[in-house]
Amino acid sequence: MGYSVVVFDPDEKSPAGRISEKHICKPYSDLKALDELNARCLAITTEFENIPAETLQYLEKGNIVRPSSKAVSIAQNRIKEKYFLRDCGIPVGHYVVIENIESIKNINYQDKIFPGILKTAQFGYDGKGQIHVNNIAEVEDAFIIFDNAPCILEQKLDLDLEFSIVLTRSVSGEYLEYPLIENHHKNGILDFSLIPARVSSLLEEQATKLAMKIANELSYIGVMAVEFFISNNHLYVNEIAPRPHNSGHFSIDACVYNQFDQQVLAMIGNKPKNEVIKFPISLMLNLLGDLWFRNGKQIEPKFEMIAGPGISIHLYGKAEPRIGRKMGHITILGLENQTQEDVIQKTDTLRKILLEN
Ligand code: ADP
Ligand code: MG
Repeated sequence: MGYSVVVFDPDEKSPAGRISEKHICKPYSDLKALDELNARCLAITTEFENIPAETLQYLEKGNIVRPSSKAVSIAQNRIKEKYFLRDCGIPVGHYVVIENIESIKNINYQDKIFPGILKTAQFGYDGKGQIHVNNIAEVEDAFIIFDNAPCILEQKLDLDLEFSIVLTRSVSGEYLEYPLIENHHKNGILDFSLIPARVSSLLEEQATKLAMKIANELSYIGVMAVEFFISNNHLYVNEIAPRPHNSGHFSIDACVYNQFDQQVLAMIGNKPKNEVIKFPISLMLNLLGDLWFRNGKQIEPKFEMIAGPGISIHLYGKAEPRIGRKMGHITILGLENQTQEDVIQKTDTLRKILLEN
């Protein structure tokens, strides 16, 4: 689109910082550096939800910030998020707010909250900041591990399926949604996403309404994702991501305008671009740092072995691989008459090749 990009990231090895016009490498609390960012930019967004809301609030005084600090502050705190969803009448799984040791003592066993998951209200991602618990004593132990930080205790739902909706909303309230995305997690980390999700049209309709309602109530501008659970054929909202989402990465290869294009369009006050899908069937496979280790030694995966038509490899340029760290992803496009089953099978083959070479 012809814009240049300034990246603000306290990490000197920031992958985006390395390829942008300018990398401002300062703490989020450095007001002088934030002033510089404001002076250099037409509009500002975040692709990281754990940025302090105060930082966005400060930037908002002198610039266009989309999504707003208010929307981010709700989505980045599981307690605020749950209260917000409750006030909007959005269905969520059973939960209890745990703000201190006393609130643990008050948990009622009749509540049927166990087995449950204790999640820190803030800074969790990729299943981090979560401990599975079976009784009050285990909640107490987990709460101490989290340094008594405020938490949400959720009932562990019996999941039929997980899916997400990635949508964008413009200043003037227009919406565009990508197709529903079916998500498969391993150890709390997204393993792969399948497009389109295998969800009934009734649930799809309900979920779309809920996602739009959430965006509307937040006066949201930009790209956001809503993660859903289906449990016993019922729909629940899991969480909101105030940014382009891992599950939306298929759009880079499968769509004419991807989720990042839509984010830029929303930032500068344009409508979403409607002409979206080039490949109706696709699969996004995450590449975790695990792939860079074999028998305790660091290796370089042989991506050249899987190159081929309809396969796009994206590596993020993170400084070092770590177990469980998202290092990149692969998009596998359904070509010509390929079905979802074909694409899933192809993915299994690619996985094997990467693990065995
Ligand atoms: P994160 O911020 O790490 O994405 P989530 O709350 O989305 O945190 O949890 C990550 C994954 O853990 C979910 O996608 C789901 O697979 C599983 N999970 C989380 N909460 C529950 C729950 N209440 N019941 C069942 N599974 C859950
Ligand atoms: Mg999640």
